[in-house]
Amino acid sequence: MNQFKHCNTNKTYDPLNSYSVAINERPSNGAMSSGRRNKRSVGEHTKYWSVGKTLKVLVYKLDEHSFEAVKNGASKWLPYINLNFEFIEMDEKDINATDEFLGDIRVDFQPSFNNAGSSAVGTDSLAGHAHDPSMTLGTNVSSPDYESLITHEFGHALGLDHAHQHPDAEIPWDREKAYVHFENSANFSKAQVDANVFPLERVPGRTYAPYDRYSVMHYQVHNELTVGDWEQPLNKNISEGDIAFMRQIYP
Ligand SMILES: [Zn+2]
Repeated sequence: MNQFKHCNTNKTYDPLNSYSVAINERPSNGAMSSGRRNKRSVGEHTKYWSVGKTLKVLVYKLDEHSFEAVKNGASKWLPYINLNFEFIEMDEKDINATDEFLGDIRVDFQPSFNNAGSSAVGTDSLAGHAHDPSMTLGTNVSSPDYESLITHEFGHALGLDHAHQHPDAEIPWDREKAYVHFENSANFSKAQVDANVFPLERVPGRTYAPYDRYSVMHYQVHNELTVGDWEQPLNKNISEGDIAFMRQIYP
């Protein structure tokens, strides 16, 4: 119940491919960097889907509850976005029988991802291979926090980054304790902690909502990992800030 939710966003896509997929989907994804498109700025773009699109969500078949859980967790965003989801459930062997992209978002389950999750950010899910899942969830479908984890992962799939990594995040991390904690609990290397936990520099070409500690895209932060008295319990629901940002991105 009180377990930490680990989540990795996949950052390994070729930046040029990530950029071309993003502007092919929605030209304004490259708007901020188009004036100085060079090797340095090519990764500086948003990864939002085309407004009004129906996103195909392919879900690998796991058990009788998993498909419903994905639908429920993902659909929590629908009142706030001008997008639709079309959910499809398929067996892995049928998915692997074709080289086509069967889903814009492709959701797989792995027991090793219990209490964890991973997702490509926005259009990056089309920058990978058609056979590869763009999102991985655990198999503990009956866990009480399972649907909120799915909501979080679909936030990434819709183009959101982690809220606790906002450039203006005020979290007074005790960095050394955090490195040890995430190594023990998530097997994160120092580089992974830097990439997934600590605030990131502001990047020109990306859009930012105001920092929101109540965002469903924010990690739980334990008091013992901060200097002084600062903690943030697990946010299980979409926040007012999340709603405002999604309405701005997908009007
Ligand atoms: Zn995440």
